[in-house]
Order: sequence, then C-alpha cells, then structure tokens
Amino acid sequence: MTTFLATWREPGKTAVETAWKHRQQGADLMTCIEMGLAECELDPDFLAIGLGSLPNSDGEIELDASIMDGADLSAGAVCSVQNICPVISVARKVLEDTPHVMLAGDQAKRFAIEKGFEPRNLMTAESIKHLEEWKAGNAPYKYIHVTEEHLHGDTVTMLGLEEPGHLIAASATSGLAWKLPGRVGDSPIIGAGIYADDETGAAGATGLGEELWKACASFRTVEAMKRGLSPQEACEETILHMIRRQPGATEHACVVFAMNKAGEYGAATTQGVFHLWICQDGVITVKEYSELSL
Ligand code: ASP
Repeated sequence: MTTFLATWREPGKTAVETAWKHRQQGADLMTCIEMGLAECELDPDFLAIGLGSLPNSDGEIELDASIMDGADLSAGAVCSVQNICPVISVARKVLEDTPHVMLAGDQAKRFAIEKGFEPRNLMTAESIKHLEEWKAGNAPYKYIHVTEEHLHGDTVTMLGLEEPGHLIAASATSGLAWKLPGRVGDSPIIGAGIYADDETGAAGATGLGEELWKACASFRTVEAMKRGLSPQEACEETILHMIRRQPGATEHACVVFAMNKAGEYGAATTQGVFHLWICQDGVITVKEYSELSL
C-alpha cells in the first residue's frame, strides 16, 4: 500500500492525484511527492505556491521548499528563492547533490541555475492585480493566506508512506502574502514544517509559520508518536501545547498532520477548519478537522 497525505482543500487534491499518477507509472516515493508539489507550484491558480503566488511587500515572489527522507533523515531545503520554479525540485537537488541541508536566496537561485533551472518571471497578471489591490489598501487577502469568505490556506505540505514503513515529507510555499522581504516561515525548516523518520512516522505543518516554527511543530509531533501516541493524539498534543503556550497561535490557523509507519494518520488545527486529502492506493478522500480549544 502507498499512502499520500496533502494539505488544504485546493492544492491538496492536485498534489495527491499527481503523486498517485506518478506512482502508477512506477516512480519511487520521493519522485511522486516531488511531482505532486511541483504540479501545484506550476499551477498559477494556487496563490500561495510557486508561479503566480502572492509576493512580498516589495512585489517579489520568494519561494521556500523542503524535502526529508525518513530512511536516513537526509534533507534538502531552499528559502527566499526568486525567479525559479518549482523550488521543491531545487530542494531535492540540495539533498542529493550537496553535503548541505539548506541554501538561501540568491545563492540558492545561482545553484538552481547551475543545475539547469531556467530563471523566469513568476508574477502573473493575477498576482500583479492582487499586489496593486494590496498597495491600494483593498487586498482581498489578509497577511496570511486566509480569505474572509473561505478561511483556507494554500501551502502544500505532503507526507508519503510506502509499505513496509518508508516515509517522505515535503513542503512548498510562497510563505505569507506581503511578508517582509527575506522572511522565512516554517515550511523549509526541517523539524518545523516537515519531519520524517522511518523508525516512527512523519509530520508536516501549514499555517502561521512563525508560531509553527517556535513550536518545532513537526519534530514535536513525530517525537510524540515515538512516545507511543497515535498520529491523531500526537497532533492534538502539539496543537494544544501551542494554544496553551503561544498567544499568537490562535490568531491564525496553525495546523499539524501526521502519519505513522503503519499508515494511521491524523491532524489538528488551532483555528477554523482544515481539510486533509488522503490517497490510499488510488482511493482518494478528504477529511475535515475542526479547531481545538483548551
Ligand atoms: N506555513 C507557511 C508560512 O508561514 C504558510 C502556510 O502554510 O500557508 O510560510
């Protein structure tokens, strides 16, 4: 059995469908996850990922991504990368072709170009329109990717499991809309946005990156599973800890989700409703998780 999990109502469906398509064509687990995230990054309809996403306060799109292999805890990540997409594939190159975990900013872009990625303009007519609305003070988007109407986030974080017990975690995002230039959230940080360890399970995060990072949310959740908690219990423990200890954690959605090496999964959020997509050998479902309170 192969299981994929992916975040949020919009990109999550695309991510698991693409990952499964590649699985059927015989791709290895890491490639399936990379392709699932890359498809979301290249779709300009997703406003918080890759091409056509919402820029920083200078009007520049800066992308973050990370990938971790639970077999040997190897990991690769990039942050604050401009003009390159998909950055999940650059993160994978950092994992596979360098002794490092993370490359940042212009030097990550230089590395990507050396690896054959073509620099391009990532702003679309739609992202320019949103930028102009934001500058004029009428942006439909708040600081985080949550709209008044939909209360959804767009960052795509994925977990994958192939039996018997091999896990990959990965994430790709443009971070928060209108962020300060150079701001980095949880998504490319190993232990905050993602974590995978074949001895136990994997976890991922999405939502307000500053709070998720302070909680080391993904590592905390995997460690809770290591102590014997189920994925659902582990996610709830992390989210309740954040609600109790971090005043900012309930101002916006902070989400963790997890899967253990047996394929059980769970999720929890500090605010609103979170949608998790699940693909188990091609059977695709979506589950809703409501906010927790103390
Ligand atoms: N966690 C991401 C960040 O803070 C945003 C998100 O998940 O929507 O950069």
